[in-house]
Amino acid sequence: MGSKKFRTIHDWSRHGVNIHLTCINGPCSHVGIADPHACCLWFRAHRWPIALDAGAWRHFRCTKCGSKGAHLRPTDMVITVVDFFPVDERGWQALVRRLRS
Ligand SMILES: [Zn+2]
Repeated sequence: MGSKKFRTIHDWSRHGVNIHLTCINGPCSHVGIADPHACCLWFRAHRWPIALDAGAWRHFRCTKCGSKGAHLRPTDMVITVVDFFPVDERGWQALVRRLRS
């Protein structure tokens, strides 16, 4: 993965790897592995920037301590954040409706 660029969340999806998230709260440092495709949809639904240098990393909230912000890196590890995102197209549509109402 050395030469691949990871500047936006979409890059993880494009390179076919998962997102390794580490809580920025040092004493916590909780780790989660997320599906980049689901994260992309989630960020688009909320109209958040997907570029890391535009602050995308700030929108990840730790499921353990609640801190906002995460360090991101590519990983081949199995996804552990499984029950967070909508499970199907209907769920995604309902989310978008909720956010835009
Ligand atoms: Zn944490």
